[in-house]
Amino acid sequence: MSVPGAIRRNIKAPEPQWTSAKQDSSIGGTRYSRSHAARAAEVAGAIIAYQPLNSELSGVLVKEQDRVIIGVNSAHPKTRQRFTIAHELGHLVLKHKGEVFVDRTVLRRDGKSSQAVDKQEIEANGFAAALLMPQALVLERLEYRQNEKPTIAPKELIELLAKDFGVSAEAMGYRLANLGIFMPA
Ligand SMILES: [Zn+2]
Repeated sequence: MSVPGAIRRNIKAPEPQWTSAKQDSSIGGTRYSRSHAARAAEVAGAIIAYQPLNSELSGVLVKEQDRVIIGVNSAHPKTRQRFTIAHELGHLVLKHKGEVFVDRTVLRRDGKSSQAVDKQEIEANGFAAALLMPQALVLERLEYRQNEKPTIAPKELIELLAKDFGVSAEAMGYRLANLGIFMPA
């Protein structure tokens, strides 16, 4: 799979207009540098770069000889960006085959990601879900929210939990379904 030319050029260029999380933190810190997923990616040795990209592109992972770059579409909602970083980190940590991974957000008619049928993509999504929404913490928070409001409707509960974990309601819905708690709406 090839990287669109513009992205490739930007990644290859020395310090292009990407904004790295580290640069951000030096000017007072941003939500990105505090992001759980971003920290994990940096610990794993990846450089995280943010740039507004075409809306259908969520992120890329580029493994070069001496560095690994995770490119994130900064035009997407923060929740989406976090998931993208965690997903790309999944490709890296799970040692998926390939040097360049390009992840798109295009949905098929059945609502699944166009790449959700690919084994490596499914694994990367699973990794991201587990990293951002650890089972034990989700179950603990779920119980807390239910005790707080026993009559809470599933939709509201999912939205609250999504906020608690900084993910989209859709991602939380899938996570809960995978944990055997709810079926996605
Ligand atoms: Zn992917």
